[in-house]
Amino acid sequence: MNPIQNADLHCHSTVSDGTLSPEEVAARASANGVELWSLTDHDEIGGQARAAAAAKSCGMGYLTGTEISITFIGKTVHIVGLGFDANNADLIAGLRRTRGGRDVRAMEMSDGLAKVGIKGAYEGALKFVGNPELISRTHFARFLVESGVCRDTNEVFRRFLTEGKPGFVPHTWATLKDAVGWITGAGGMAIIAHPARYRFTPNEEYALFTEFKAHGGKGVEVVTGSHSVPEYSIYADTAREFGLAASRGSDFHSPDESHTELGTLPFLPANLTPVWEALAPRIQ
Ligand code: AMP
Ligand code: MN
Ligand code: MN
Ligand code: MN
Repeated sequence: MNPIQNADLHCHSTVSDGTLSPEEVAARASANGVELWSLTDHDEIGGQARAAAAAKSCGMGYLTGTEISITFIGKTVHIVGLGFDANNADLIAGLRRTRGGRDVRAMEMSDGLAKVGIKGAYEGALKFVGNPELISRTHFARFLVESGVCRDTNEVFRRFLTEGKPGFVPHTWATLKDAVGWITGAGGMAIIAHPARYRFTPNEEYALFTEFKAHGGKGVEVVTGSHSVPEYSIYADTAREFGLAASRGSDFHSPDESHTELGTLPFLPANLTPVWEALAPRIQ
């Protein structure tokens, strides 16, 4: 059998901030030739049974997945978990706690937007929410596009939803130690998502990778829709330097918004160990 190359191990559905159902994401991944798939909704595993069943009916391999929001030295970082037992009680409770502050945060975001003349943003964002426990900045972005305040969601983030902007509310998520612990405690693998996105200094990034490894983290995303082509090489080197396995995922959210389509990124660079090697026994 040929080794797996077209793995897409990072994407979102209506269970978090994607616009397609788990079944629709599965069908789209399969149509694009994905051999091994994982649905990694933010802070939520409520879509896993549906995703696994849909993968099976499309003939794709499946790994359970999630993308956990954490706070590391005051900044938000995302940790992807793959191949865990989705019935693990500690993981379920930890994710529920992590989701817990989102609703109050969203109301505060709405208050911030009201101060610059954008009324009813909480109610407006809620119309786009597929999972009431998972209201995110993305849903606000869709509301601001729909109401004509901005042309696209990127413009919304730039003008309203990033640090220092009127709709931004600082938030403390899970800890690195807890997120890695929940994933590995449930038999899965913890992976640093899209490291180039965080804009850390070299020392900060070194601290993240060092502490991540110390807590039992095993992988890093190298080829992701959030990285540029030069960043694939940079993080391929980082993976080798830290002895981490490498992952590949589009971070697809929506046919209208995502610049990266499911299953279409370049394959992993050579001389890396794919995360799906160690996860082979966990593939459904
Ligand atoms: P939240 O977890 O509520 O803070 O929302 C984070 C989500 O917002 C990310 O997972 C992305 O889907 C989206 N996002 C973050 N930054 C941007 C950006 N600059 N442009 C478009 N979407 C973004
Ligand atoms: Mn997202
Ligand atoms: Mn992310
Ligand atoms: Mn993501």
